[in-house]
Amino acid sequence: MARLTTLKPRVQVLGPRLAPQPKPSQAPTYRIRGRALQQIRAEHFRAHPLCVMCLEQGKVSIATDLDHIQALTNGGKDVEYNRQGLCHPCHEIKTLADLGIKSDAFTYKGPLWRLAERAPQIRQQQADFAELRFPSDIQSSRIPCVMVCGPPNGGKHPYVREHAGHNDVVIDLDQITPELSGLPVWQVGIEWLPKALAERNRRLRALASDYTHVRAWFLINAPDPTERALWAERLGAEVVLLAPPVEECIRRIKAEPYHEGYTERMLDAAQQWWAMNSNVQTHIAK
Ligand SMILES: [Zn+2]
Repeated sequence: MARLTTLKPRVQVLGPRLAPQPKPSQAPTYRIRGRALQQIRAEHFRAHPLCVMCLEQGKVSIATDLDHIQALTNGGKDVEYNRQGLCHPCHEIKTLADLGIKSDAFTYKGPLWRLAERAPQIRQQQADFAELRFPSDIQSSRIPCVMVCGPPNGGKHPYVREHAGHNDVVIDLDQITPELSGLPVWQVGIEWLPKALAERNRRLRALASDYTHVRAWFLINAPDPTERALWAERLGAEVVLLAPPVEECIRRIKAEPYHEGYTERMLDAAQQWWAMNSNVQTHIAK
């Protein structure tokens, strides 16, 4: 219980140092439950009926969830000055942040109080996926490597088709997923992504000792400029950026025979790419 050392000495706390040791079956934090909790909730919502986080953003929502400002899992206490009322969507956002879970890549259905138990596992899964998406052990390519980057439908595939020679190797997630699943890319479920990323990474690692090909082409959206530069540095690659204006990307995506859902994903990805690259000048492949 090292967290108690952060408390000011004048505050008297009934923590494990002062109280008898809790039995192993008891929760390590002191959380009020049952009828006492119902009463506290009712009183709190009577006095503060609106969601505090919504109010901060100038919105008005009814508070439905009683939250601990400093989460109990982070050493907060179950006392009135540490309570606030939130709407459920705000409560979910805050709980994920409290537990160090990235909310953009996470959907959870279930009671929020349960998340604390699963948080270490979820954090580990998120870290594993981040490593799969952007592996730290990629080494410099033995053969010349060209990284072709840009938003979806920015012209990466036509560019590589036009420039790649017969003895070149092309590494492209959009080719690998259909290869593995036997489905066109717009029908491949998200469950194939980890496998496809692992295969892509295997091919990228193989470049370090490639004696068969003349040149490597690596296609990747790489919306984050910092990540893009790091990829290029690790691979020792030259970067070709193909970035038509966002309106043009959108026009091209809508003209494709994609299935519903995939079109939305591509449109989102195009918007996101440009949101992260507002200072990039538009490049259209000749
Ligand atoms: Zn809210």
